[in-house]
Amino acid sequence: MKTEVAVSAAMYELALGESFTFDALVEAIEQRRGHRVRIIELDALGEQAGLCALLMETDDQDLVFHAPTESALHRQQFVLHEFAHLILGHVDGDDPAAPDFLLPDIPRSTRRRLLRRQDLDTPREILAESMADHLAAAIRASAVRDSRFLEIFG
Ligand SMILES: [Zn+2]
Repeated sequence: MKTEVAVSAAMYELALGESFTFDALVEAIEQRRGHRVRIIELDALGEQAGLCALLMETDDQDLVFHAPTESALHRQQFVLHEFAHLILGHVDGDDPAAPDFLLPDIPRSTRRRLLRRQDLDTPREILAESMADHLAAAIRASAVRDSRFLEIFG
C-alpha cells in the first residue's frame, strides 16, 4: 500500500498524464534532473558483472547502462527500472567498488553516484520495480492511442 501511494505521487509529480511516449519520459526526467540522460548498451555488464542494468550519475549527465538483450521488452524494463530510481531520487549512495572494467571511459573521479541492480528485495528496489511497471503501462497506453489516432486520422 505504501508502495502504491509513493508510486502514484511520483507519477503525479511527473505531470505527464496517464499515457506518454518513451521520448516524452526521457525529456521529463532530463528536465527534473537538469542534465542529459544517456542510455548505453554495455556487453560487459551481463557477461562479466552479471547485472541487467546500472545507473550512474556524473557531474553533467545520468548514465543508464543495460546489458544486451534480444528482447526489446526486457531492455525497456531494465531502463525503466533505472529511470524509476532517478525519478524517485534514489541516487544517493557512492559505490567506489564499481568495477573499472565496466566503465573504462569514465574517470573514477567523475563517477559521483551509482546504483546497481542486484538485490531486488529491498524496499527501494520493490518501489523502483513498481514504478517501472507504471511507466511501462503508460508507454503502452500511448502506443495504443497513437495507433488508434493513425487508424482514424493517418
Ligand atoms: Zn534497482
